[in-house]
Amino acid sequence: MRSEIINHLFSSISSLSGVGPKLEKLFNKLIGNKLIHFLWHIPYNVIKRNKHENISEAKINSLVTLKIKIIKHIPSRFRRQPYKINCLCGDIQIDIVYFNARHPVIKASLPINEERYVSGKLEYFKNNFQITHPSHIIEIDKINDLREIEPIYSLTAGLTHKVFLKNINKVLQNIPNLDEWIQFETIKNYKFNTWKESIISIHNPLSTDDLIQSNINRKRLAFDELLSHQLAIAIIRNYNQKFKGISLKPPGNIIKKFFNKIPFELTLSQKNVWQEISKDLQSKNQMVRLLQGDVGSGKTIIAVLSSLQTIESNYQVAIMVPTGILAQQHFETIKNLLKETKIKISILTGKDKGNKRIQKIKEIENGDTNLIIGTHSLIQDDVNFKSIGLVIIDEQHRFGVYQRMAFTNKLSKPSILVMSATPIPRTLTLAAYGDMDESKITEKPKGRLPIKTTSLSFSKEKDLINRLISKLKLNEKAYWVCPLIQETEDSDLKAAEERYKNLNKLFDEKVLLIHGQLKNKEKEEIMYKFKNEDYKILVSTTVIEVGIDIQDATTIIIEHAERFGLAQLHQLRGRVGRNNKLSSCILFHKNEIGVNAKKRIIKMKETNDGFEIAKKDLEIRGAGEILGTKQSGLPSFKIADLSYDNDLLEDARKYVNYIYKKDPKLINEGKNLRNLLYLFERDVAVKTLLAG
Ligand code: ADP
Ligand code: MG
Repeated sequence: MRSEIINHLFSSISSLSGVGPKLEKLFNKLIGNKLIHFLWHIPYNVIKRNKHENISEAKINSLVTLKIKIIKHIPSRFRRQPYKINCLCGDIQIDIVYFNARHPVIKASLPINEERYVSGKLEYFKNNFQITHPSHIIEIDKINDLREIEPIYSLTAGLTHKVFLKNINKVLQNIPNLDEWIQFETIKNYKFNTWKESIISIHNPLSTDDLIQSNINRKRLAFDELLSHQLAIAIIRNYNQKFKGISLKPPGNIIKKFFNKIPFELTLSQKNVWQEISKDLQSKNQMVRLLQGDVGSGKTIIAVLSSLQTIESNYQVAIMVPTGILAQQHFETIKNLLKETKIKISILTGKDKGNKRIQKIKEIENGDTNLIIGTHSLIQDDVNFKSIGLVIIDEQHRFGVYQRMAFTNKLSKPSILVMSATPIPRTLTLAAYGDMDESKITEKPKGRLPIKTTSLSFSKEKDLINRLISKLKLNEKAYWVCPLIQETEDSDLKAAEERYKNLNKLFDEKVLLIHGQLKNKEKEEIMYKFKNEDYKILVSTTVIEVGIDIQDATTIIIEHAERFGLAQLHQLRGRVGRNNKLSSCILFHKNEIGVNAKKRIIKMKETNDGFEIAKKDLEIRGAGEILGTKQSGLPSFKIADLSYDNDLLEDARKYVNYIYKKDPKLINEGKNLRNLLYLFERDVAVKTLLAG
């Protein structure tokens, strides 16, 4: 149960006096729906308002507080006309100005012949000083209530700063004192303040220095956030550990036979990785492993071997991929590889509806299906496995972290193998999964020629077409990827359609078009035709980015290459070079391009090495942006910044490991951490804790 002492922080924002439905809506949009959400909305700037008795000391266009005497009201007579109040500051004239003002309110707040402090931006307009819409009007004896230094928060349309401050201050006045949940050594080491002090201080900065990343109060709160997150992962994982451990048999006959059927020999790197995984699958612990290998390095075969070992021990395997096309492709490849075995393979995607879906789910549930390949459809509530032993997540960078956790949770305790072509920095795997083991495929299959990458500006389009015509006379195929325009799907499509029409004329109707708005079935048909029939070029939007494997495709043209990120360019390039013929990648770009785009194109020409590219990507974009994109599927933090808080993340993880050994139920040494989990709303973890 949530402790009494923090309960009030979880009341709805409308519980604040003066917050009605209209204001509540605005707050919901900006910060969330509970009082606690105010605390995580950190100011981004500070303003100082200097108090002056005398206008001549004050700077024009700066925020000032002046003592004025009210002389005369000149109310507006029609809508557009401002309401003016003539005043004196010392002996200098100054006007207070309002637009669309409510007359009685202003009359009452600035009574004639009295003195007030007014605070706002000092302007000089038509030979006259004025302050338009002052932010504060204060009676002379209450001047000490005015904060000379004020935090600035990001707002949303319709919400004023004054109203925001008023309400956040109400919340800040009721911050409870909580028992410390961080270890004493860590507190001492970083010189952290208490949680309460940190919260109060971060909302009361004295200068912009208090708002930088290295500020100790921000760091304390970032540590809290990372700690709660790591702890939540540990709790959910440990919950899984309680189920009886799955320990698979060593590879048996099916695998031996299968090895004889593979049309190639595994690379040394693949062999090593397979050893690692196979051994890990035999151990009693749940395997949680990341398999990294550049595009085309041959991860699929490792997935198949792992699946076979699992199925030999009578457990089921689920392979989860981000798109329907990819599911279909894996399904076909794997079915083909396993055609001489008795293994029953099935595919489940969004396409499966009604009776077909029910039938498939039934077969999964009663154990008839050994290996199921699918998309997000696999983690829906009505999909239950009879005996799941291994979950493989391919090209995972698009899945959300709690989704993965839900998967584990629901299916008791299968091993997890995450496959990724993009090297993921340790900070990110920690953030997404907590601790996980890693295997790396470091070489490409023998005989692969490096992909030749060139760049070409739009002015050379004719050359490009001629090159393509002579290349495609051989029995080879090409991808033509059309620009990524973020604004609308429609404009993406239009560009691709035009390119398609144009090329189709030039290449005797041997061109196909694929894009995201087609139905999955249509997409699959087009992919099938491109692979198996006499088509030369596939024009596409970026739908082909991930995992597509068509051996005869040896050329890829990326139009408007300047608009793509490095990682994406590399992924796209990886669609070719999948056999022993010479492949090429042509970065076709606008005549004039920016500095960063130039850097990306140069890097692409320089290297084929995905790891190097990822490093450069991080450098050009900064981890902040990579982490910031929704696509990354990584958790987004309210305060912590993974590109800065590495050390905090490591320390949080260490602490979680320690506490979890000593007090997994968080009832002794770790009991104060329960409050932390609630504060950051890791309620799933808390529920799990209580259930255990
Ligand atoms: P990725 O790691 O990008 O998923 P794939 O598993 O799709 O790569 O493999 C790329 C291609 O290389 C496939 O056509 C696959 O059959 C082939 N391949 C995999 N391993 C080897 C190998 N050791 N020797 C030759 N070809 C291989
Ligand atoms: Mg793949």
